[in-house]
Amino acid sequence: MTSKPFDLSGKVAIVTGGNGGIGLGMARGLAEAGAAIVVVGRNETKSIAAAAELSRHGVRAIPVTTDVTDKAAVAAMVERTLREFGRIDILVNNAGINIRKPPQALELAEWDSVIRTNLTSAFLCSQAVHPAMKAAGGGKIINIGSMMSIFGASFAPAYAASKGGIVQFTRSCAVAWAADNIQANAILPGWIDTDLTKRARVEVSGLHERVLARTPAGRWGAIDDFAGIAVFLASPASDFVTGTAIPVDGGFSIMG
Ligand code: NDP
Repeated sequence: MTSKPFDLSGKVAIVTGGNGGIGLGMARGLAEAGAAIVVVGRNETKSIAAAAELSRHGVRAIPVTTDVTDKAAVAAMVERTLREFGRIDILVNNAGINIRKPPQALELAEWDSVIRTNLTSAFLCSQAVHPAMKAAGGGKIINIGSMMSIFGASFAPAYAASKGGIVQFTRSCAVAWAADNIQANAILPGWIDTDLTKRARVEVSGLHERVLARTPAGRWGAIDDFAGIAVFLASPASDFVTGTAIPVDGGFSIMG
């Protein structure tokens, strides 16, 4: 291991959904540690603003407008990254959506949309970066799961399936690519205050109070709670850590 285990100077990170919420919280940590950032999202205005903010850490940050459910668009995003930076060291698969309905009411198109955005996208992006990481002698893949990687929820059948799947996909990549010196790990956020959960608090009655009551830390998470874990999993500090799923949840998942 290097003498600076958390240093990301000279590294290049792709962060899907890096233009807001948890993705932006992680991108801030990576930029602060010295990594250049490729901000991937569909909303160009949000991505331009996030890249401008991140570049204030003294690193290069560029927005690349991409729908991560589209294989050709993902390939173009990876090509653009290699053209601009010549390398890819870190991939954060964070883009995600939820459609809140019980299983009996969810349409097939809604199921497909959630699975493609939350799970298939991680497969597409990981597969697309693998050749560059392997050729460079290693890399780091960070996938974003959820408490619903562990628990069920009546109002989130496709979301929970996608987040359970992301943990098993992470483990498979960790095993498959260990020989390429690529470490793959998952982060399981608890309840975090973002655009995604602002809507949930309106749509799921009593959610806000239930989360507070069940979280030992006594608060909702903030996006900046994800900077440290992102740096750890992206840096040489975690070179012997692979295939794990780490809760960042204020204790939500260990509350009896
Ligand atoms: P936000 O809604 O704030 O962010 C979601 C991000 O995903 C946006 O940046 C959005 O960018 C991007 N995105 C969505 N669909 C696509 C797509 N097809 N192509 C490219 N980008 C896409 O939510 P959060 O920050 O809360 O969520 C981030 C991740 O964390 C998700 O995977 C979510 O499931 C997970 N998570 C969140 C929790 C929470 O409590 N907030 C709890 C557990 C997990 P754009 O709009 O530009 O497309």
